[in-house]
Amino acid sequence: MARWRPGVALLLAACAPPVDLKVVEFYVGALPRRDGLRHHAPMPELPEVTALAAGLTELMHGRTITAVRLRSIGALKTYDPPLTALVGTTVEAWTRHGKFLDMSSGDLHLVVHLARAGWIRWRQQLSEARASLRGPLALQVELDGGGGIDVTEQGTEKRLALYVVRSPLVDVPGVARLGVDVLDVALSPSRLTELLRTRRGQLKTVLADQSVIAGVGNAYSDEVLHGARLSPFRQAAALTDDEGRRLHEALHAVMDEAVARARATPIADLKPEKKQHLRVHGRTAQPCPVCADTIREVSLSTRSFQYCPTCQTGGRVLADRRLSRLLR
Ligand SMILES: [Zn+2]
Repeated sequence: MARWRPGVALLLAACAPPVDLKVVEFYVGALPRRDGLRHHAPMPELPEVTALAAGLTELMHGRTITAVRLRSIGALKTYDPPLTALVGTTVEAWTRHGKFLDMSSGDLHLVVHLARAGWIRWRQQLSEARASLRGPLALQVELDGGGGIDVTEQGTEKRLALYVVRSPLVDVPGVARLGVDVLDVALSPSRLTELLRTRRGQLKTVLADQSVIAGVGNAYSDEVLHGARLSPFRQAAALTDDEGRRLHEALHAVMDEAVARARATPIADLKPEKKQHLRVHGRTAQPCPVCADTIREVSLSTRSFQYCPTCQTGGRVLADRRLSRLLR
């Protein structure tokens, strides 16, 4: 022990304040982007989640759960009822609340928030091998007669969340907070405009805020704003009636089409399928399909988004958040 102590003391002395922040910044800046997630990993959003719920219902309805195996301990956010209470219950259906998936089984619900890089895979035969605790597998649910699901999360940023509850609308805070669902028929053009006007902040942020409108995430808010020819930096509070109508129209055009397409796709193919049909999101430097201008990117600390200057910002190009503040 005595041998390494002087070394540790020296190291501590070298690291003691004052730390040169510029040096720290340099090293942080030189780190590779987290698993490349920041840019191109398709994130599950409402159309995929809707189709996943329908596909999983078909596969699992009426089957009894024989085992549940939690591999990512931190993913489970509830403890009462315990996860094992699901064993022996019979799966009724999968539905969704915003982008949360909800499996009802017996009088319990398993609620899954896939976050940025989560997914649910159907397996005809679940692998019995004990998965690494650091791997992508978060949870396995096995059914009578074999087969079941793997709930996975890629990458190192673990944000997937699981809840075992009796009443999702009450017991899952993220579900309880959800605003009106984007596909709810009650969300008329005037209701949408009113809702957005009450919020401070830029359209891009407000549109993706699940407590205002549930179900529109980063990718589809880019698509909707592009469809409505609106700047992501426009203040939500300043939205005109005409802009509100355009936004409503684009919201339905984009989401209805994406849901229909996702539902026509086998659940095993949902993720790669989604990306092909996005017009601006994730298409930095490619030509806009409407006007052929170059699609631009705004890079934030944890995500990035895209827009077309000609279609959306009167030709103005914004490099980052600092610059975007100058344009309202
Ligand atoms: Zn364009």
